[in-house]
Parts: sequence; C-alpha cells; structure tokens
Amino acid sequence: MEKKQFQAESKRLLEMMINSIYSQKEIFLRELISNASDAIDKMYYKALTDESITFDQSQYYIKVTPNKENRTLTITDTGIGMTKEELETNLGIIAKSGSLAFKTENESKDGHDIIGQFGVGFYSAFMVADVVTVITKAFDSDQAYKWESEGADGYTIEPCEKETRGTEIILKIKENIEEETYDEYLEEYRLRAIIKKYSDFIRYPIKMDVSETKPKEGSEGEFESVQEEKTINSMVPIWRKNKSELTTEDYENFYAEKRYGFDKPLKHVHISVDGAVRYNAILFIPEQMPFDYYTKEFEKGLELYSSGVLIMEKCSDLLPDYFSFVKGMVDSEDLSLNISREILQHDRQLKLIAKNIKSKIKTQLQALLRDDREKYETFYKSFGRQLKYGVYSDFGANKDTLQDLLLFYSSKEKKMVTLDEYVSRMPESQKYIYYASGESNERIEKMPQTEAVAEAGYEILYFTDEVDEFAIKMLMTYKEKEFKSVSSGDLGIETNEQNEDVTEEQKALFDSMKELLAGKVKDVRPSKRLKTHAVCFSTEGEVTIEMEKILKAMPH
Ligand code: ADP
Ligand code: MG
Repeated sequence: MEKKQFQAESKRLLEMMINSIYSQKEIFLRELISNASDAIDKMYYKALTDESITFDQSQYYIKVTPNKENRTLTITDTGIGMTKEELETNLGIIAKSGSLAFKTENESKDGHDIIGQFGVGFYSAFMVADVVTVITKAFDSDQAYKWESEGADGYTIEPCEKETRGTEIILKIKENIEEETYDEYLEEYRLRAIIKKYSDFIRYPIKMDVSETKPKEGSEGEFESVQEEKTINSMVPIWRKNKSELTTEDYENFYAEKRYGFDKPLKHVHISVDGAVRYNAILFIPEQMPFDYYTKEFEKGLELYSSGVLIMEKCSDLLPDYFSFVKGMVDSEDLSLNISREILQHDRQLKLIAKNIKSKIKTQLQALLRDDREKYETFYKSFGRQLKYGVYSDFGANKDTLQDLLLFYSSKEKKMVTLDEYVSRMPESQKYIYYASGESNERIEKMPQTEAVAEAGYEILYFTDEVDEFAIKMLMTYKEKEFKSVSSGDLGIETNEQNEDVTEEQKALFDSMKELLAGKVKDVRPSKRLKTHAVCFSTEGEVTIEMEKILKAMPH
C-alpha cells in the first residue's frame, strides 16, 4: 500500500501538534465533535431539501466510545461522510492554508502560544493519539475508505468495509509518559465532563454508553452495574436558550467551538426578535484582527440557519462592509430552507434582518465606547480602519452611522479622542476642526505647519492612516464644523498674514527662490504662522500634500 506525504504546511502543523506541550489537550474532542456536527448538518440539509431521501430524525447522532483494553477512543457520526478524494483534500492538506504561515510568523519557540490561540481542527487529534484512523462512507457512495496516519510521516488510504453512511474516527490514545498522562481520555466521567463543557449546545445527540449502578432485579439490597446509552449534551442550541441562563463563558465556548476566531471575543450580543421579522442571533465583536482581514481573501458573513438548519456558512448580505469584522449566526423561521443564493439576495425578510442587525451592531459599539473605553480602543486598533473605509465608501452614505465611532489621536490630550469630544472642547474663537497628516504621531509633532494652530491654543487631530484624510473629506463637517488641514493656506487664525509689507530685498530673495524651485512650488511668501521653523509647505485648495502623495502612489 502506498504511503502519501502530507503537504509541507500540514506536516509542520502536525509536528507541532504531536510535540505539543499545550495544556488544554482536551479540546481535541471539541474539534472532532464539531466536525461530526458539521457533517451531520450537511446531511440533514440534504435530506430536508431532497425529497428522494427518507428522513428520520433519530438517524442523526454522534457517539463517543472509549475502550480501555484497546486504548482507543472512537467518535462516530451519521453525517455526510467523505469520498476518497475528499479524504485526500480534507485531511491531507490543512484546511485554511494561510493560517499556518501566519502562525509560524508569530510563533513563539515552543509552539505553545500558537496552539493556544488557534484551533487546528482535525489535527488536534494527534495531541492525544499515536495513530488516527478514519473510516468513512460518503452519501451516495457504495464504497467505504479507511484513512490512517501515525503522524508526520504520511498517511494511507485504502478501500474498506462499512455498512452505514458516516464517519468513524478511531484514536489510539498515547501511552503515559512520566507526568504526561493520557488515561483520562479513556475515562467515562472525564469524557462526559469535556463534552458538557465544550459541546453542550451541539444540536444533535452526543451519545455515550455510561455505566449506572442500579438495584439488581429480583433481589433485595443488591446492586449491579449496567451499561446504558445516554445523551450527554443538552442539545438546545445556545441561541434558543434564555439569555439569563447563559454565562459569558458559554458564549466564549460557543465562539471557540464554532471557530469564529481564535481570540476571546471582546463583546457578544444575543438577539431575539419577534416582530415583523422573527429571528435569533448571536453576534460577536472579536478582539483580534484575523490574519487575512485586510486582504482580498477575507470573506465577511454570518452563519445563516433556517429553523435550526444551517443553510449558508457565510451569508455576506447580512453585514455591511464596514462591519465585516462581526462574527456569529442568525437563525430565522421566516426563511425557506432551499432558498438559493441569488433569491436570498433579494429576500425581503433577509433585508429586514440585515437592517436590524446593522443597528444592533452600531448600538453595541456605541455602548462599548461609552462604557468600556479601553476595550473599545482595543477594538479600534484592530478594526478602526475598516470603519474609516466605511465613511469613505459609497460617497459618505454611512457617515451618520459611523462618524461617532471614529477615534483620532489628539495633540492636546495625547490620546485617542472622538470627534464629539474634540468639538465640545473647542473655544468660541475656533472655527475649524484642525488635523495634520503624517506617517506617525512623532513625525506630525515636529511638523512646522502645526505651530500656528498649536500657538493659538487649538487642538489638532493626527491622521496617520492613509484613509483618514479621505474619510474626513467625505464627512466634510462634523456638528457643522469644517475640517481644516494645518497645511492649508488659510487657517482661519488671526495672523495678519495677508497685507504683509515686503521689502525690495526680500522680494528679490523670494523671486530667486521661486525661480530655483520652478515647477515644484507655485509661490514663495513670507508668513507669520512659523514660530521656530524657517520655512514650511502649505497648500491651496482641497488636496493636501499627504493626499497627493497617496494619490500618486496609487496604481493607475
Ligand atoms: P474545519 O472543520 O475548520 O474545516 P478541520 O481540520 O476540523 O477543519 O476539518 C477539515 C475538513 O475535514 C472538514 O472541513 C471536513 O470537510 C472534513 N471532515 C472532518 N471531519 C469530518 C467528518 N466527521 N465527516 C465529514 N467530513 C469531515
Ligand atoms: Mg473542524
């Protein structure tokens, strides 16, 4: 039998998993159960939308079976299964290939942080197992296949026997090595506890044969131990539960189980709407930017369920681009199951839900800004730029939603401030909201152009993101105050700049400077705005020097 090699990336990840010193090894079970649940979701959806498939609710379950004698732990599901090709592509190659590159870039030496921060799905099985065997039979297929791997040196695939559709994952649990013990993953009580902890909201029964001590039949006072199949999880999806029954940890576990992100969410919101449109939703504001967030590869979207059945993994129509960082799910009974993507785009119900969700997210962000400034600033570090793009795009159509969520560094406060805070501090004499653009706060601080404004006692906002100035141009005003670059010709500050008397000698100097700089500057003029610097650039009209630089650098 031929042994195939893992792709290089997968191999590195596997090695990390095998040598993992990660303390939370138990999460392997969450990962495998989540995969089983995903596979059943796919089958369930097929059955509901395809009349030729007979349908029986009791067919859909997951079973966890430890066997101490053989030292195996088996996770069985009745999901959609995998074909031979799917085994190759799904288990031979790490699913999201970009993620490993990111992981290794940010790697600490022992790999400890990485595994803590990033779930790695199927491969996490190798944290507790020497050998992993997958026996699977795909829906619509007559042949079953066995995939097997002892870790980094490759895997084999061969045809095998399996009666029923679905997947069986058999882990050969590692032997104990000194203080590293693995016996617990064969203990019934321990497995039950892990399932309860991470997978309680899985919507299909997770069954186990559990031993119960019962009074012996036909005898007085005698007990016997009997095996009985039991469902371990509560099965009520978290979004159907009452908010008051749930803890922050429950939501965080759900976030991790769903692999929405590998961070801890900054904030969650649980929505139950029962009006013109009915839906339940759980939304999360992540803490960290996904590694591909500002790239073309990033796909926004929320999971979409119709009466508890997953119909789309990333429904992008539910989120405006400027809130593309939001993760989570929506479940509605008002959506039909076999709705196609094209029809969905025009669905009235979905549009209503999207509108509703947009305003909920806005409210959440406002609340975070108001009640927990530190957390908001963490959020803003990751996703503030996206909000600014939002202001800029669609010709400023979203400015009312977004302008109060913006933060900029202030010359006076030496920290991030909102536009509202800025305007409320403006003295009577100040006409404009001043800003200065530059590479960094330190650089801006040294700009000669800031002197006159600072001298007048006015606050300056520092724009260090390329998008800042473009976004502000879209806003035009905030609370009727215009924005003004410190580099612009007319700063609106009393300086008697205009009727400056120029001596003959000075005029000759300026003329020769103009000649020398011909084509580079339009004019050379004396100015009173400078305090400690001899010269500075200033602009006339809409486009500032910084914007010009960016526009020039843009591909044509
Ligand atoms: P993810 O779940 O994030 O896609 P995993 O590493 O957990 O990544 O799983 C990789 C892929 O293997 C899954 O996307 C799925 O296609 C397939 N897979 C894993 N377990 C099962 C299973 N029990 N039944 C069917 N397919 C599975
Ligand atoms: Mg998975």
